[in-house]
Amino acid sequence: MREAVLRLKKGREARARVHPWIFKGDVADVGSAEPGGAVRLVDSRGHFVGRGLYNPRPVLCCRIVTWRDEPLDARLLGRRIEAAIALRGGPTALARLVWSEADGLPGFVADRYGPVLVLQCSTLGISLRRADLVHALRAAVGPLPVFSADDATPARLEGFEPVRGWLDEPGPASVVVEEGAVRLMVTFGAGHKTGLYLDQRENRARVAALAAGRDVLDAFSYTAAFACHALVGGARRAVCIESSPEAIAGARENLALNGVADRAEIVAANAFDELRRLDRSAARFGLVVLDPPPFAPGRHTLAAAARGYKEINLRAMRLLTPGGLLATFSCSHHVTPTLFEEICLEAATDAGTRLRVRARLGQPDDHPALLTVPETSYLNGLLLEAI
Ligand code: SAH
Repeated sequence: MREAVLRLKKGREARARVHPWIFKGDVADVGSAEPGGAVRLVDSRGHFVGRGLYNPRPVLCCRIVTWRDEPLDARLLGRRIEAAIALRGGPTALARLVWSEADGLPGFVADRYGPVLVLQCSTLGISLRRADLVHALRAAVGPLPVFSADDATPARLEGFEPVRGWLDEPGPASVVVEEGAVRLMVTFGAGHKTGLYLDQRENRARVAALAAGRDVLDAFSYTAAFACHALVGGARRAVCIESSPEAIAGARENLALNGVADRAEIVAANAFDELRRLDRSAARFGLVVLDPPPFAPGRHTLAAAARGYKEINLRAMRLLTPGGLLATFSCSHHVTPTLFEEICLEAATDAGTRLRVRARLGQPDDHPALLTVPETSYLNGLLLEAI
């Protein structure tokens, strides 16, 4: 069978040589490309650009997997898995093992939670190759049970049935993982992402190291991972604010698991309202963590997102005791570190709070970023100290 060829419009090749995303508007001709199939990508003069996986349904219709003239087959996927695990220094027990574009496997995420692998497929092409990817993962880390945690939103966009559940052999309903001195419960199929916000691992450790003796506010706490770290690190007490009942149930479990529930309070509320209420009250904190969901999922929502970030940061700054610390984050890739710093500066000006930048925070090494794919840089934060 002849290979399907996708021809780019003139002038679209420069970007396509460094960025894997091809949009419908970039394409002059799709030839015989099949949904989910591999295609050979050529420039307007017919010169080879790369090979990718095609889907006529979404606007982002092709993701390049290789820029070398090599077959896009199970062996290539296997080499990508091996390289991703090697980059992380071998099969560690709690880590993101494969991260999509950043590991040359657009649409595929694999996390390890001790004796379990959790994966997410977010494109049709990758979902059709799930078995090959699982095979390669098991070859690298051993025959672990695999839980598939596909997200419904990209699956709908791409037109495939999201797989949620154990793939072949069932694994444990939940596991307790150790993150530094803290133990966290991961219940497969419950909660967000693949179970934990693994991308905040290092920032949680960093914050915990400064928490001793402080009163902590963990806003947008999810399963209270920041609060657990702070309390185990010697914080006096912690207040968690979270709106999702499922996350609150997880937070209760984690606080109990670490023997710190008696020093913690969970407020089931909208964090915007609760921060405003706390600001009006006399409550003050020596450490505030702000880790909201992405307020700017798209560029068109950037202005509203900036207002949201400013609002919560302004409130949080006013809640700080003298010498108090604010660990504040954004996980919207549209909000660049520079923009985030500008927003925090505006908030500090309105709050009348002078703050020292103790550290600029970001993603851990197992969430690598590609210079030419800005979408892979998404998590940034500031550790600020009221002076
Ligand atoms: N800090 C957490 C991750 C936070 S993710 C960790 O380290 O694990 C963001 C959390 O904010 C999610 O749990 C989500 O349910 C919650 N959330 C989203 N909007 C909210 C709101 N308006 N008020 C309170 N919680 C909210």
